[in-house]
Amino acid sequence: MFSRILIANRGEIALRIMRACKELGVQSVLVYSEADRDAAYLGLADQAICIGPARPSESYLKSDRIIAAAEVSGVDAIHPGYGFLAENARFADQCRESKMEFIGPTAESMTMLGDKAKARQVARRARVAIVPGSEGPLEDDEEAFAVADEIGYPVIVKAVSGGGGRGMRIVHDAQGLTNALSHARLEAEAAFNDASVYLEKYIEKPRHVEVQVLGDLAGNVVHLWERDCTVQRRHQKLVEESPSPAIGPETRRELCKAAVRLARVATYSSAGTFEFLVDEKEHFYFIEANTRIQVEHPVTEMVTGLDLIKWQLRIAAGEAISFKQREVREQGAAIECRINAEDPENGFRPCPGTIEHLRIPGGLGVRFDSHVYAGYTISPAYDSLIGKLIVHAPTRDEAIDRMLRCLEEFAIAPIKTTVPLHRQILDHRLFRQGRVHTSFVEQLG
Ligand code: ADP
Repeated sequence: MFSRILIANRGEIALRIMRACKELGVQSVLVYSEADRDAAYLGLADQAICIGPARPSESYLKSDRIIAAAEVSGVDAIHPGYGFLAENARFADQCRESKMEFIGPTAESMTMLGDKAKARQVARRARVAIVPGSEGPLEDDEEAFAVADEIGYPVIVKAVSGGGGRGMRIVHDAQGLTNALSHARLEAEAAFNDASVYLEKYIEKPRHVEVQVLGDLAGNVVHLWERDCTVQRRHQKLVEESPSPAIGPETRRELCKAAVRLARVATYSSAGTFEFLVDEKEHFYFIEANTRIQVEHPVTEMVTGLDLIKWQLRIAAGEAISFKQREVREQGAAIECRINAEDPENGFRPCPGTIEHLRIPGGLGVRFDSHVYAGYTISPAYDSLIGKLIVHAPTRDEAIDRMLRCLEEFAIAPIKTTVPLHRQILDHRLFRQGRVHTSFVEQLG
């Protein structure tokens, strides 16, 4: 095992990784920006190094500074968390060139899966269904019209390098296509520095179901079942749960097997996620892979009892997965609510500021992964996630009841959060019945 690693991230995930390190006897070095210098979690690290101003491009995305910090602190490896440099194959290479392990897959696997158009090619090789659409990035508008005519409207234009629901446009007819293409290209260029887009059939009323996999350097691959992330707002996940209430045992088995095939074709090591859309007839289509730990990983941890961050560290250090697929249990049901500092009454605008009062729920089967506390100032420089509330219970119904109880207990002032929206969702008859699709939240009104 490593003796010391650097965590190239901030907030709740930096703290989460640090906790795993402590339990494994691994020292942690944290890098931070000037905006995060007062965050209490820095005090839990064995060493903390300031790497620049608030703006991510000047600090958390500045790979040279991070590598330099890693070199001076003498670490054996770097954990990128999620976001920032986590899916940057060039950074993974840079770490390894500097004789430090990158805690994640190889740069080759990241390149194969990181780009949505290339990931579709992996799926073809793995004999996994993909949403009908263009072969690769669109050459020009003419090709887009030809593909859309062939697959039929509605279609969705997506950024090849997309993430976080950006660079995506739904198009209902040929009139709207030119406009959608140019908007998606502009948005993609601004967000990902890559204007290339491709086209897919728009699946009506789908569910988003993803499979967690774990691969090691010896080529062992296991899946850790699925997470259902259908409850989204503007294509961004809000509530995640496992198991999915919407698929039968046969679909579930096939879905998990498909993810393992995808991981094998990409010679995937570390923790990774394969995302699918499931239509009303339970047909599933691969949409993309996330070559990193995901925000919603605790849901899987609660039902399987496995610590995913510890496994990422063990695998990067060369350990083989010590259990067999059939030994991966799934017990009870887990639900996660992402608590964002956003104002639901003001178009979900980010709501930064100082937390004056905070009451965190607790009790049996309750987990709150967060770096915030009363007195903490939420910076406007970063995303608005302030914590993840996760519950685990023997059945889904009990998990919903538990989550509702926790949401009632949760109190924060004067910051506005997504908690009232979560209460509305969890309390909804259709959510309880497991009969929602990806536009459910928008339709709540
Ligand atoms: P991103 O990487 O930006 O998160 P994804 O490809 O993961 O983009 O898609 C995010 C969400 O967008 C999905 O969960 C789904 O709600 C919606 N979506 C993506 N592709 C389609 C599609 N072909 N049909 C319908 N909805 C889609």
